[in-house]
Amino acid sequence: MTKTETKSTVLLKHHLKSLRLPTMLAECEKVARRCAADNADHLAFLLQLVEQELIERERKAAERRQKAARFPTAKGTDEFDFSARPSVNKPLVLELLTGEYLDRRENILLVGPSGTGKTHLAMALGMAACAEGRRVRFFRVTELVTTILEAREERVLLRLRQQLGKLDLLVLDELGYVPASKAGAELLFDVIATAYERYSLIVTTNLPFENWTEVLGSERLTGAALDRLTHRCHILETTRESYRLQDAKRRKRTAG
Ligand code: ADP
Ligand code: MG
Repeated sequence: MTKTETKSTVLLKHHLKSLRLPTMLAECEKVARRCAADNADHLAFLLQLVEQELIERERKAAERRQKAARFPTAKGTDEFDFSARPSVNKPLVLELLTGEYLDRRENILLVGPSGTGKTHLAMALGMAACAEGRRVRFFRVTELVTTILEAREERVLLRLRQQLGKLDLLVLDELGYVPASKAGAELLFDVIATAYERYSLIVTTNLPFENWTEVLGSERLTGAALDRLTHRCHILETTRESYRLQDAKRRKRTAG
């Protein structure tokens, strides 16, 4: 390496740092060597370098959004066994993974008994949304109700509302009977009503539809919430039938 090359490399790295292009900084020499070996021209070299910077930026941004969403674990659809859950409409899930429903502010309702993969699917859809550049937040409903009640006491409810208002997707996990506190039910209703046509909701519940009338402790509130939730809504059902199927298969194997 000649003296001038060394000097220009040092300067280049300094400038890349000032411009906040860390991947280009880290990769420029390696890509330059590879391009020289491949006889690639200058523009091809620049393209490769810029592409790497972009890819790394998007990966980091998705990681940040995923962290901000506060999913309980990180399970995607690749870990979801659709054959074990035949009631789940797989083509619909694949379509929802593209995130187009978010542009249309549509909701997703996941209904089924406990332990049948509702939270798993809600998380998978939420993570896909993060990867697509959307702002997502995951809450268990009880946790959200506690959070908003506390925010109200500390007079930061407005700030919480503003934070929620910036979302593209709010996941409400385990909507069941909202107990005792009338204030809690009203604040939860307020979240659902505010989300309506502003951002999408994914709601999971193990309540069958016939038991929905009293979710919020008041038929009027529940009816109004349901109207908004289901106005433009995709429904995914997880049923237990699969367990019987799995069980039957297991027994067959044991017998055979
Ligand atoms: P729910 O929210 O309906 O109560 P979860 O999503 O918490 O159920 O699922 C319970 C556990 O079973 C989780 O660890 C989940 O990953 C797993 N699980 C459920 N259904 C499937 C499936 N079809 N494929 C892979 N894992 C599954
Ligand atoms: Mg769950």
